[in-house]
Amino acid sequence: MKIIQLNDDGNVKLFCPFCGKKVIDPEQEFDECEHTLFVATNEGGFEFISPKIEINEEFDQPKDLSEDLSDEADEESEDLAESEEELTLNEYIETLEYPEAICFEIAQFSGFSAFVGFGRE
Ligand SMILES: [Zn+2]
Repeated sequence: MKIIQLNDDGNVKLFCPFCGKKVIDPEQEFDECEHTLFVATNEGGFEFISPKIEINEEFDQPKDLSEDLSDEADEESEDLAESEEELTLNEYIETLEYPEAICFEIAQFSGFSAFVGFGRE
């Protein structure tokens, strides 16, 4: 899933690219639409997950990630675990696959980021 980064000047509003509904508004509560797949922050992890998409909330634990994989893939993931550090949230989101999906990252100056994923289906 591709991530598009938006710089948050404190007044970022985010509209669903598929139906146009406003889901993020600094003056209102988060309001998901039928295309919203997830909402996550780099501090709190996933805060909203649509039943349409499977997300491993413990993505940063390689042990959980390898559970469903075949033996062959297990070897691969062991190699990965040795050479790679834990996935960051945006790296994990990039590995998610969903038809015609797009993720917006709303990045604040402080380093805090919110991620909102949308999918057409
Ligand atoms: Zn929508």
